[in-house]
Amino acid sequence: MSRFFDGKLSALEPYTPGEQPKDMKKLIKLNTNESPFPPSPRVFEALTRESIEQLRLYPALGITELHRATADFYGIAPEQVFTANGSDEALAFCFHGLCPNGAAFADLTYGFYPVFAGMFQIPYRIIPLREDFTLNIADYAGLRETIFLANPNAPTGLYLEPDRIRALLEQDRDRLVVVDEAYIDFGGESSVALLPEYDNLLVIQTFSKSRQLAGGRLGLAFGSTELIGDLNTLKFSFNPYSVNHLTLLEGAAAMRDRTYFDACRREIIRVRDDTTRELRLRGFSIPESLANFIFAAPPGMSGRTYYEKLRERGILVRYFAGARTDGYVRITIGSEEQMKALLAATDEILKEV
Ligand code: PMP
Repeated sequence: MSRFFDGKLSALEPYTPGEQPKDMKKLIKLNTNESPFPPSPRVFEALTRESIEQLRLYPALGITELHRATADFYGIAPEQVFTANGSDEALAFCFHGLCPNGAAFADLTYGFYPVFAGMFQIPYRIIPLREDFTLNIADYAGLRETIFLANPNAPTGLYLEPDRIRALLEQDRDRLVVVDEAYIDFGGESSVALLPEYDNLLVIQTFSKSRQLAGGRLGLAFGSTELIGDLNTLKFSFNPYSVNHLTLLEGAAAMRDRTYFDACRREIIRVRDDTTRELRLRGFSIPESLANFIFAAPPGMSGRTYYEKLRERGILVRYFAGARTDGYVRITIGSEEQMKALLAATDEILKEV
């Protein structure tokens, strides 16, 4: 740390992203919940010579084709759509500007939440999940903090039905609930449908998982026009142009290609369910995931050992150290071929231990 670093932030513990290895050819990468498929063919078509020439200009502000495509997809107004440089940026704005009474979130959830809270000096309350990793809505009754909820949750993959989200919203209509739907497209139902009834709801989504654009950095928020206005106030006080011109075009193209979106997510769901079944047959314990990953506890060894043995065999998954996570690894659902390789490696490892 230099002597110039602000003492207020000296305790900041930054988020540790999953490893992005340089030599990708040698590794099967199942550690950061990216898509195994390329972006939609329409994204390739959107990146024309003309669109690249436009890079000399600042990107468009206000309502763009991306806003309209998204609004059409969900049947909401374009003014209810906020765009950000990845959903991490949208979440950062929520912590920075939408937590007047602090924040509250589960003990086992997206690891960036406490980091944002630290960055913006927002006090936060941790609400432990039950023993089986499920979330009990009643634990949130009476809390005044802004609630952050990943649905499906990470790293467990467990999903809350819309009636559970509704119950949470009903607890206090003057308390904001931020539902982080990074993984909603792999079998869950989006809470966007609740927006006409609840102005204390903000939904966050990303193009990184189900729309094959993790490298494009594009996230969305959906809420009342007032909430979206607040997010734009924050964005325009920080970096109005945080979503670049090409990403705006890529996002609109991906959002308009419903057929490709559906085909990719259906395939992930199919492969996820097959992989879960196969691993359970081998004695793994796996909570029911509606995400593009599974949280899997191998039989007879720790999560760390399984992680290390997979790595020796060129397969990269994510291990989270910690009392509740020690027995598990998080495995991103890749292509069918990649998951076959995972199962073959797992059979070898199980013989070994
Ligand atoms: N929310 C959750 C629950 C996530 O797992 C992730 C991905 N790490 C994000 C948000 C952020 O995704 P991105 O910034 O790529 O949109």
